[in-house]
Amino acid sequence: MRSAPPFRQFVVKVHGRCDLACDYCYVYEMADRRWRSRPALMSERTAADLVARIAEHVVAHGIERVEVVLHGGEPLLAGPARIEALVRAARAVVPAAVGFTVQTNGVRLDERFLRLFAELNVRVGVSLDGTKAGHDRHRKRHNGAGSHDAVAAAVRKLAGPDFRHIFAGLLCVVDLAADPLATYRELLRFGPPEVDFLLPHGTWSQPPPGRRPDSSTPYADWLIPVFDEWYGSGAPTTSVRQFSEMVTLWLGGASGVEGLGPLTSPPVVVGTDGAIELSDIVAAVDPSAVDTGLNVATDPFDAVVLPEQVLSPLCVACPVLEACGGGHPAHRYRAGQGFAHPSVYCADLYRLTSHVRARLAHDLAALR
Ligand code: SF4
Repeated sequence: MRSAPPFRQFVVKVHGRCDLACDYCYVYEMADRRWRSRPALMSERTAADLVARIAEHVVAHGIERVEVVLHGGEPLLAGPARIEALVRAARAVVPAAVGFTVQTNGVRLDERFLRLFAELNVRVGVSLDGTKAGHDRHRKRHNGAGSHDAVAAAVRKLAGPDFRHIFAGLLCVVDLAADPLATYRELLRFGPPEVDFLLPHGTWSQPPPGRRPDSSTPYADWLIPVFDEWYGSGAPTTSVRQFSEMVTLWLGGASGVEGLGPLTSPPVVVGTDGAIELSDIVAAVDPSAVDTGLNVATDPFDAVVLPEQVLSPLCVACPVLEACGGGHPAHRYRAGQGFAHPSVYCADLYRLTSHVRARLAHDLAALR
């Protein structure tokens, strides 16, 4: 166990339910069932405690800027008034710059929310899985209908001249059934500043779709053509987060993405009931691994103690550890054995990080 470094990113679950029923959702479709007993909406009292704890933390560590990510469930279910109150309170009380991003499924992202976010300078990230067919295969409403049309309409507004400055980017879960380049090009049609490709969550006990326990590399095979198109496009106007971070890591920089390289400043998660957690994604596979027993009502963020990250000996000896980092901690899990394994995506990560390194090495050699 070790003391946590100062936190600079706070993931805040302002609402703990969702108006979609995506089949790969790590919040509602995996082992963590605690959301059922937690309040749907973060109370005003908990929001006030949260703001006071962030203020206390930045004073204690002389932090000049923090980022708050409004998350869920679906954060827009909290309603505009609650979100506005939280943003204004944080900016009034915390003696540091407080950047806000809301990560939404986009279904409720209407003109009223967009105007509010523009007024408050809250950046907006939207989950969109590429083409209509790809998106609607997984991102369904509770009645089974696809959500693509509503989300695409919202993203078109967000990408338009009135709101473009608050467009944070698009988040897309990789689906092996979808064509990678068609997916990537569809996302680019909205002109996002950033695209974030997420691997579907899974573990050694509950492997992700299509990830067999062998040396095949279906996810690397999917991502490599996208990397090559992105990398080969010269000066892309859209950053692809995983690729940018991998390039940065291979060039000796630090990672800002959980699950890629060693993370310098991990985020901390605050639930609707004020509970402080280390990762809601790890909680989805083993809630006890990230439960701190702390709550913003009674405890400072400085009371958080990080568990020692135990890497598998295979990862420690691995030539791509620098860029891979052993994969996302949740993906290393095997029931009854814990997290000291390579990622369930090991073969994919090895191939992808090696490919990125080879492209960089080739170009650096040419420069010399
Ligand atoms: S590629 Fe596999 S063995 Fe190497 S660091 Fe990543 S998860 Fe570990």
